[in-house]
Amino acid sequence: MARFFNGKEVELLAPTGTFEIFKQVIGENCDAVYFGGPSLNMRLMRKGFNFSLEEITEAVKIAHGLGKKVYVTVNNLLNEGELEEAQAYLRFLESAGPDAIIVQDFAVLSLVREMGLNIKVHSSVMMNVHNVEMVRALQEMGVTRVVTSREMDLMTTRYLQQATGMELEYFVHGDMCSVHGANCYFSSMVFGMSSNRGKCLKPCRWDYRVKKDGNVYPAEYPLAVKDMFMYEHIPELIHGGITSFKIEGRMRDAAFVIMLVKAYGDAIDRYINDPVGFDRSRDTKLLHENRKRDFSTGYAFGRPGLSNINRRYEGTGKFYSTGKVFSTPTEERELGEKRVEAIREALVAVAQEKKGAGRQNGVVAGISVHVNNMAQAKAALEAGADHLYLSGDVFEPDRPFTKEDVKELAALKGNAKLYLGLPRMMTEQHFDLYEGLLFGERLPIDGLMVTNLGAIRKFVGKGYPLVGDFNLNVYNRLSADFYRGLGVGRLTASMELPLKDLAGLLAHAPGPLEAIVHGSPAIMYMEHDLYENAEVYQAIAEEDNHYVDNSILVLKTDKGENPVYRDVHGRNHLMMAKELCLMPVLKELLEAGLSVFRIEGATYKPEQLAEIVRSYKAALANPDAARDQFGRMTPVYAGYTLGVLQFDGGSASGAAGAGEEASANEAEAAVSRA
Ligand code: SF4
Repeated sequence: MARFFNGKEVELLAPTGTFEIFKQVIGENCDAVYFGGPSLNMRLMRKGFNFSLEEITEAVKIAHGLGKKVYVTVNNLLNEGELEEAQAYLRFLESAGPDAIIVQDFAVLSLVREMGLNIKVHSSVMMNVHNVEMVRALQEMGVTRVVTSREMDLMTTRYLQQATGMELEYFVHGDMCSVHGANCYFSSMVFGMSSNRGKCLKPCRWDYRVKKDGNVYPAEYPLAVKDMFMYEHIPELIHGGITSFKIEGRMRDAAFVIMLVKAYGDAIDRYINDPVGFDRSRDTKLLHENRKRDFSTGYAFGRPGLSNINRRYEGTGKFYSTGKVFSTPTEERELGEKRVEAIREALVAVAQEKKGAGRQNGVVAGISVHVNNMAQAKAALEAGADHLYLSGDVFEPDRPFTKEDVKELAALKGNAKLYLGLPRMMTEQHFDLYEGLLFGERLPIDGLMVTNLGAIRKFVGKGYPLVGDFNLNVYNRLSADFYRGLGVGRLTASMELPLKDLAGLLAHAPGPLEAIVHGSPAIMYMEHDLYENAEVYQAIAEEDNHYVDNSILVLKTDKGENPVYRDVHGRNHLMMAKELCLMPVLKELLEAGLSVFRIEGATYKPEQLAEIVRSYKAALANPDAARDQFGRMTPVYAGYTLGVLQFDGGSASGAAGAGEEASANEAEAAVSRA
């Protein structure tokens, strides 16, 4: 089944969480369905959801018999232990013959190519594709369809499609995230449950209060977004270059999915048949009456602001088939001696394994520091930083680093290496700006810190060595190899590797590896501007921030305060409540082969940052003294945490690792979206 409007294909793509749902939905007015298999996809923890291998084979046969398409989600980040499983699974999928697989981790793309599999690949929304360079890079790798970033408007999709000819898929209905795809690490940090591995416990649905300038605002659920609703905008989607209209909802029951398929399918047919007389809202009332949350058109027509935030039934669990909320506010775990010992043991085992196999990488270790302004940059250099990253997402009220700043730091840096960071997400305008800056007079820098595939394609081989930032989400040796193959010299490990997965990566990743070891890194990166709350709502109380200046907005629960910084591009960065501190395991990280120890310094005062850098320098010079150094350090924020190293991880099925204290309903309820 295929539909066309003015020669352009239009596909209605429906979710089917189970084979039973598939059998009921496939005969309805959709052109294609998507689902996950028994492993390596984003919804592994609800019993009975996802397809068995036999069901995949059967479903493909049934769908093809009806002239419809099937896409299978293989869209998790994979840990080392899952790479082998992935090979067997991909071989099976090739024989089952779905029309494509939907992929997040470049390791899967590498395997498909290495194994010579005849299987089409679509890039998942979790690849966060958002610029032409990214699309071109994916095209060159053989990807045939891109699921666009959720924050992409329909003017941009039209431009991307026309510039590249790539087939685009767009979420038209259902549950959305408030954070950029693959840039949400909150659930990992608090629960050890990665949203990039299908285990998100949805801290975005907690009831926070917003605090700013000493005022408390009654912004309930300020991160909880409404459901996407593009039913009334079929013409704009088609005009926007969208081929595939994707309905979210692999956890929804058959009756609900069928209602959506009937409504959207009928609307598409009516529009194709009579585009001028098309009634946009024939089933609006039906869909509205049966909605889960309130509706929004998300970012389809530009930034929706606070109108994208949902209140209806938030905090009740009414949206979910379990009837329970995913999680309740939970404190980041405090660094503790018992956990430190467990981490040391695991890292010592890595060092022994590498030694036994003759695989020590023998690089000289160093300290890198990510800074937001000149005062921090100078403090870090004076304290002995070996690598300095100038942020590409400078937090207000600081301003972006100027050419003059760069030249001044280049003159000061001595043997340290100076890198210019690029924005985490780059629009076409960002590419213009950085092309103008970098392709003219050569900047006196030692390289660029790149944050997305498009930037790698654009700037590789242009005279500036590349370092890959943590948000490339390097989780396994194959994705590390993939980026190295593209010309990225040094890679930063994913920020959300629990202990077993970090150990696996350190044991197997070739080449120099960097990791964030200290600071309060951003665990949510979003287009949504929380600062609007303080402009729109009337304050209900007065209260100072506990750890950061009152000018910084914080999200507060009874379990802590997360500062939120707004960058010069207008995007928000929500930080951890505590400080990550891996000083107590520095010696073992070093021996396990970590090359560069990153301090996320953007939120510290210069003197605080200098003190931290000096402590790490001293510890690196004398690793046996790292414990003493730690004893002399005082946390700036709400205490120290080992971040995701508080958790063991290491399994595909998401079973809680030793030392985890999963909340009562989390194992049952932990699901996320494709
Ligand atoms: S990944 Fe999405 S659902 Fe999970 S916490 Fe982040 S924004 Fe919320």
